[in-house]
Amino acid sequence: MNSPKVAVIGAGPAGLTLARLLQCHDIPCTVFEYEKTIDARDQGGTLDLHENGGLLALKEAGIYEVFLKHARPEGEVLKIYLPDDQLIMDEGKNADQARPKEMHGRPEIDRIKLRTMLLESLKPGTVQWGHKLRKVESSGEGPSERTFALHFQHRVEAGFDLVVGGDGAWSRVRPLCTSEKPFYSGIAGYDVRILDADNTQPALAERCGHGMCLTLGPNRGILSQKNGDGTIRTYGFMRAAETWEEDSGIDFKDPDTALADFIDQFYSDWAQDAKDLILKADRGTAVPRKMYMLPVGLRWESQPGVTVIGDAAHVMTPFAGVGVNVAMQDSLELSRQIISRKDQWTSKAEQRLSLAAGIAAYEAEMFDRAERYAKKTIMYLDLFFHHRGGVAMVEHFDRVKAIEKAQCEDGATKEALQERVRTAQEVGSTG
Ligand SMILES: Cc1cc2nc3c(=O)[nH]c(=O)nc-3n(C[C@H](O)[C@H](O)[C@H](O)COP(=O)(O)OP(=O)(O)OC[C@H]3O[C@@H](n4cnc5c(N)ncnc54)[C@H](O)[C@@H]3O)c2cc1C
Repeated sequence: MNSPKVAVIGAGPAGLTLARLLQCHDIPCTVFEYEKTIDARDQGGTLDLHENGGLLALKEAGIYEVFLKHARPEGEVLKIYLPDDQLIMDEGKNADQARPKEMHGRPEIDRIKLRTMLLESLKPGTVQWGHKLRKVESSGEGPSERTFALHFQHRVEAGFDLVVGGDGAWSRVRPLCTSEKPFYSGIAGYDVRILDADNTQPALAERCGHGMCLTLGPNRGILSQKNGDGTIRTYGFMRAAETWEEDSGIDFKDPDTALADFIDQFYSDWAQDAKDLILKADRGTAVPRKMYMLPVGLRWESQPGVTVIGDAAHVMTPFAGVGVNVAMQDSLELSRQIISRKDQWTSKAEQRLSLAAGIAAYEAEMFDRAERYAKKTIMYLDLFFHHRGGVAMVEHFDRVKAIEKAQCEDGATKEALQERVRTAQEVGSTG
């Protein structure tokens, strides 16, 4: 029996991980990607991969050793400042200020490195660059006959048995599963970079350290992270109306004035070093951003032959740092569900029915898992943009650490510990 004809839309972490996992089990697939080349746009900052998320997927995909060559465990450190420059947490220097144990063991990798290593793991020609999907059309009566045609900007390719949307927040595949669309999360701001910071801005590089450096004030923050290539990427993010760019009157087309106007308007009384992380940014790198999310707990009735993974299924804001991990775990779970049914591929009809069953099983697991992480993300959003600023985040870490310590001392079960952490988190998010 021939393999099914499989299309994966989007060469992001989710799509590429799925393609690799399928190819490891001799299931061919084509990845259609909108961008024209791997470096067509800035690929963003660093990502931390978690044991039961991205790292697990890479292990199963047989490329964990490659990851280790590019990983930056030294990036796993966090500093928190208040707007008056008081340093209230520095886990690189003070072991007793380390984050809770549940957050340890999450090595960082630059996003471009992750994408490159996933691409290099695929068979040549797997990714079709410059293919912007416009819509997916299905035809055929019932699940055993259903096939799909992909409409790109310049051509149509038909006859797919399985279409997986790994095409991010604004997915063109998702409408076949649900009519829900991302909505504005209430958080927006300016995304800027200082290139080669160790040489161009050594004092700011020192302030930032090797990992993440947050300056957190009431309802807003200056969130910086060091990337492997020496760049400091900073988000000046805050609680704001969706129309904040127009409301501000700032001319974002002119970064020379926009950076200073942005600081004047939103961070005027903050310490100079924090402001400089934005003011000293390379002009061409500044981009205003708004953060969007899908509803927490989104579910849909499973559709034969088509599903979505990663941000296309459950885009969340980045504040729990879990998006890429949930995405890569989706790829892992979906690939397992497809691969474990390969022995049912005795005819084309049976093959399509087995794919439909695999999709349903994947989605049932994914919906619950994504909901858990989406709730966690909301909790962290509230801590990043708390009315008491960075103090609330440090208090939250202290609460979770106290619970972890109690568990060591009183031998509470893992379930009891998790319940206590959940309760502490709920208190933290409303505190
Ligand atoms: C500012 C910011 C910071 C973040 N920081 C973190 C972090 O620290 N840790 C973390 O875990 N997560 C973080 N995230 C979230 C993380 O980036 C995403 O969860 C992750 O990239 C999802 O991967 P994906 O493959 O599902 O989607 P994406 O990475 O969005 O990839 C989708 C791919 O599909 C392509 N595509 C889109 N539309 C089409 C189309 N119509 N046709 C063909 N191709 C298309 C895109 O070009 C892209 O290559 C952050 C997100 C943002 C915005």
